[in-house]
Amino acid sequence: KVKATGKNNYLFFTPEMNACYHERISLENELRQAISNSEFELYYQPKVSICGDRIVGLEALIRWRHPVHGLLNPASFIDLAEESGLICDITDWVLAEACSQMARWREIGLDNLRISVNVSPSEFTHSDFLERIVCNITKFGLPTDAVEIEITENLLLHDAPGIIDKMRYLRNHGVRISIDDFGTRYSSLNYLRKFPINTIKIDQSFVRDLAAGTTVSPILHAIIGMARGFGLHLVAEGVETMFQLETLNELGCDEMQGYLFSKPIPAAEVKLMLMNSLPGFSSQWHYGTRSS
Ligand code: C2E
Ligand code: MG
Ligand code: MG
Ligand code: MG
Repeated sequence: KVKATGKNNYLFFTPEMNACYHERISLENELRQAISNSEFELYYQPKVSICGDRIVGLEALIRWRHPVHGLLNPASFIDLAEESGLICDITDWVLAEACSQMARWREIGLDNLRISVNVSPSEFTHSDFLERIVCNITKFGLPTDAVEIEITENLLLHDAPGIIDKMRYLRNHGVRISIDDFGTRYSSLNYLRKFPINTIKIDQSFVRDLAAGTTVSPILHAIIGMARGFGLHLVAEGVETMFQLETLNELGCDEMQGYLFSKPIPAAEVKLMLMNSLPGFSSQWHYGTRSS
């Protein structure tokens, strides 16, 4: 143990820090084994067309079925995965799982769907990252344009050399690129022109602010106006109310995602939901009537 003895010395290990440190190390070790132990699962959340009647895509969202702590959301382990470098293996697993699932859905006629996978900006610095993405997609016989990667704005902020080239590599292979949580950082709208992206996803915080009797934020107006000006696809996430749906519709969004339509659900439930939404099936799928 190190004790504070003077103004330039610090108490390194308080008992609390020690516990925290051990917790972190053990979580990291468990995370390391989670793939081989098949403890990760993908949940899927639909994206619906603006008319709200058609599922156009699914976003894969990772869950960790921890043997002791139960089902964990990404918020409790993605940061650690990034810091420890385990994120690359996790993303490989997510991509392979999402693509193989998509291939199975296509086999039974559930085609014309896009699958979106979340990717951490830090992964763009790895040299073989792009090849691994394309390789995972083609391995399962999917058209590359059926796959979209979602990256947060942070990637654009790094402004690291080569980022544009890397994005262009993906675009040249047909893979779609979406900027997630858009509007939350110091995003210069200039990025929309500079980077080869297809889609922006308006952050949930803007959608949450949309309530009857309030005025639409000028920032939201600006984001939507610019995105449309550049011909980008616009998705709104976190849509929970009919009021939000109607407002976003009027503002000119293309697609929506949120609890109003469906929460993220396991693959087996997705299959039922998709089959019910096909023509000829009686649709159980209406705004806000899904119970899950
Ligand atoms: P995200 O990509 O922005 O995903 C949206 C999050 O909002 C999801 O949380 C989703 O369950 C939640 N959500 C969707 N609709 C609504 C709604 O109407 N209301 C509210 N309040 N929330 C809604 P989740 O699944 O816990 O994921 C959190 C974040 O973790 C994701 O944010 C994404 O950044 C990250 N993540 C998830 N899966 C992966 C993955 O496979 N790899 C990486 N690198 N990150 C992932
Ligand atoms: Mg996302
Ligand atoms: Mg988001
Ligand atoms: Mg997010």
